[in-house]
Amino acid sequence: MTERLYYQDSYLKEFKARIIKKVRIDDQPAVVLDRTAFYPTSGGQPYDRGVIQEVLVVEVIEEGKEIIHILKEELKEEINSEVIGKIDWERRFDHMQQHLGQHILSGALIKIWDLETVSFHLGEEVCTLDIIKEELTEKEVKKAEECANEVIFENRPVKCYFVEGEEELKRLNLRKMPERKGKTRIVEVEDFDLSACGGTHCRTSGEVGMIKVTKWEKRGENIRLEFICGWRSWEDYSWKNELIKNISHRLTVKDSELDEVIERILEERKEIRKELKDFKEKLQDYEALDLLHNEVIIKDNIKVINKLFEDKTVDESRRLANKIINLEECVLLFGIKRERANLLLARSETLNYDMNRLMEEACKFINGKGGGTPNFAQGGGTNRGGIDKALNFALEHFQDFIIKNVTKNVSKDRPLTRLGKNEKK
Ligand SMILES: [Zn+2]
Repeated sequence: MTERLYYQDSYLKEFKARIIKKVRIDDQPAVVLDRTAFYPTSGGQPYDRGVIQEVLVVEVIEEGKEIIHILKEELKEEINSEVIGKIDWERRFDHMQQHLGQHILSGALIKIWDLETVSFHLGEEVCTLDIIKEELTEKEVKKAEECANEVIFENRPVKCYFVEGEEELKRLNLRKMPERKGKTRIVEVEDFDLSACGGTHCRTSGEVGMIKVTKWEKRGENIRLEFICGWRSWEDYSWKNELIKNISHRLTVKDSELDEVIERILEERKEIRKELKDFKEKLQDYEALDLLHNEVIIKDNIKVINKLFEDKTVDESRRLANKIINLEECVLLFGIKRERANLLLARSETLNYDMNRLMEEACKFINGKGGGTPNFAQGGGTNRGGIDKALNFALEHFQDFIIKNVTKNVSKDRPLTRLGKNEKK
């Protein structure tokens, strides 16, 4: 059995003890001492770190009545030797602040709405506690926070002691009855909260500093609240304050006006995006007409535009191609040379070339593949150097790929107006 020194004194940073046992846990050296100030992972609170004789304690676990310190390396000292243990105080005090903060927040939830805390977890960055509740509003959270912080600022004494027997436990009117029988450790925040707990806590509520609920969400039947206390709240406040200061400075507004200004910026952005879209659309109309006027080749009475783009995306080229084939009867053979080589082979609905089959063949030059409908096919490949050959091939051979029965291959998205025009011819 290990004597738990932290039960009597959470502020004990250094202690002397005797080695009782040397063991191995998952192939790592470990020791059991006759007494220890190291807290083992339990009750939602993580283990302490520190050193035993300058050897790092990497984890502390509880096994029955023994506390096992897992070490970075084997201790030189033999069994029965006296050793000195030092705990990492910064980490421990942080755990004490978070843990007592949880008692106070849980106490506030009980006091205001009789809401029991069903679980608690002290994490590396945030702590969580679960309550059984349908929903939790912003206003309710604020009320609980206010109540908890009031208790903190009142700097109430916190006492830890043991009691025995069910009668005694019932008399105390604990926040939650413990499951374990026998001797029970009670943590009491004067005139506010009484609970059974084996963890480490600050000696006054004031040492918790401040408690802030940062987030809450529904988890099955529960609501999980995330909160931070002590130095963690100060750190959180510091970086958020710095961030807001920087943003206000960059936008040259007061921090209290940020919300309003951001709303305005977002609104403006929406308008600019819309304007940009309209401009792009207009520009594309001009580009389409420009290509039809200046880049058309006539091949056996068929208008063909054979063009390589290096400054357009595939998406932009596709929209442009769509525009042109609907403006005039023509064949479009577009190449796009950027990180990859891409091909767009398209024609007006009134023609009967099979661009899909043409694409299959043209793609061989760019080491790629593609597909689409008989009137609009798209492909891409890795051989950027082959794009000129692919376009040349398409220009020379598009007439070799003809659809025999036009009506069978009409594309589904063929506009009805074009159909009408076609039939009149
Ligand atoms: Zn506790």
